[in-house]
Amino acid sequence: TDTATIALVPEPVAGRHIPADLPTRIQHYIDGAFVDSADGDTFDVLDPVSNEVYLQAAAGKKADIDRAVAAARTAFAEGPWPRMLPRERSRILHRIADIVESRDARLAELESFDSGLPITQALGQARRAAENFRFFADLIVAQADDTYKVPGRQINYVNRKPIGVAGLITPWNTPFMLESWKLGPALATGNTVVLKPAEFTPLSASLWAGIFEEAGLPKGVFNLVNGLGEDAGDALVKHPDVPLISFTGESSTGRLIFGNAAPYLKGLSMELGGKSPAIVFADADLDAAIDATIFGVFSLNGERCTAGSRILVQREVYDEFVSRYAAQAARVVVGYPHDPATEVGALVHPEHYEKVMSYVELGKTEGRLVAGGGRPEGFETGNFVAPTVFADVAPDARIFQEEIFGPVVAITPFDTDEEALALANDTKYGLAAYVWTNDLKRAHNFAQAVEAGMVWLNSNNVRDLRTPFGGVKASGLGHEGGYRSIDFYTDQQAVHITLGEVHNPTFGKTDAA
Ligand code: NAD
Repeated sequence: TDTATIALVPEPVAGRHIPADLPTRIQHYIDGAFVDSADGDTFDVLDPVSNEVYLQAAAGKKADIDRAVAAARTAFAEGPWPRMLPRERSRILHRIADIVESRDARLAELESFDSGLPITQALGQARRAAENFRFFADLIVAQADDTYKVPGRQINYVNRKPIGVAGLITPWNTPFMLESWKLGPALATGNTVVLKPAEFTPLSASLWAGIFEEAGLPKGVFNLVNGLGEDAGDALVKHPDVPLISFTGESSTGRLIFGNAAPYLKGLSMELGGKSPAIVFADADLDAAIDATIFGVFSLNGERCTAGSRILVQREVYDEFVSRYAAQAARVVVGYPHDPATEVGALVHPEHYEKVMSYVELGKTEGRLVAGGGRPEGFETGNFVAPTVFADVAPDARIFQEEIFGPVVAITPFDTDEEALALANDTKYGLAAYVWTNDLKRAHNFAQAVEAGMVWLNSNNVRDLRTPFGGVKASGLGHEGGYRSIDFYTDQQAVHITLGEVHNPTFGKTDAA
């Protein structure tokens, strides 16, 4: 690639802050070295404020995946990583966390530029990435071996073994953090990996290579192949030497991957889409419920899998809720991603922007627009959407049923608990649910009955790393988090030892024959 041709726009677009030393080209990272694609192909990456091409990324295909998997397989079969003591791996993982922490500002700056996330939120995500590594570094040494004893007769123990080459496929929302969520446990357990990051936001993933090298991760353990989903992602899913795929992305992509992995009977973990309900009962603390449901759908630009994008409000407080909610949504600060005052930045890519905008237009025919509704004033270019609120949305409306993945929310009234539950469950998704009520019994009963992998009662998206993370229905398959991640990334071999008499049925010793 001729990097000289990839000039940045000479006249900076208003509000476009260009980080110092911004890369203009990124490669794959295979077997400890940065390399181009075998066929030399690249793809364009845009920044969401100007939608100008600022970066060319190596466009990986099957040949590049083959190379990366071969390196990871050799590192697994012959290298030190799977053979190290957990505490030795733990030490390296802690070093990774230290490095991420020490560079959080730079990571946030680059991530915010590449993805359009507000800088303060990108900083939070960078720190969460460090926490993920630290958490799995600690967990892998704390992990007690499962042993079961029958005194005088038998001991059984479980031998946890790394599985091999883990294929990690990640989306563009909070890319660096979501990569850490897979890299941490996959590496802690002694696997080697091939990461295929999202093509809209490949910048931060390329930084892992330097961080891992500096922390002392052996060569070939971490491999990165950039590229499109249908090329690099597809080749990774179909590679016979990759026994595990951990995928986060859209439900439709998950379904495709499920089918493509089926002939190989691969281990699959899938974190997919959502259309999560937030249910506000009349007895709730309305101030807290409004703050939380505003944050729940507008933070991370609304590009959040667990966004509470359907708000169900009990009739007695419905009008008050809608008018207060709309007024507060209108005051959410839309701004340039690098500005610390920004609460909603720019959506990731013009294609995604068009999709979200088409839902905004559709919403005007399906509901009553009470805030936002288009491009905010003062932003002539870039993927900016004003926080948009539709009230009185019918449950069969597409904006009530489909994942928009932007700063757009639908509000619907309900009368009874039964109706609230039916509305909450009236979706193909089942990732999260948020319940606002001061009635303890109602809150717990609702949590039992709602079809969601995660429920927050009078709280918002705060999560201890030990708890399971995942969805039901079209929102996912399996859970990660805490020991569930360790389970996913290890084979659990049961070993049975006899202490007493060998329990042998006496086949073939009867005289009758
Ligand atoms: P996506 O499904 O379009 O892409 C995700 C990744 O899959 C990308 O790296 C892409 O290149 C790759 N891919 C695409 N087609 C592929 C194929 N045929 N084979 C293999 N890989 C392929 O999703 P996205 O638009 O990047 O991300 C947004 C979606 O992710 C939303 O639906 C969101 O809800 C979901 N998400 C879920 C969670 C969760 O934990 N449940 C977290 C974040 C995002």
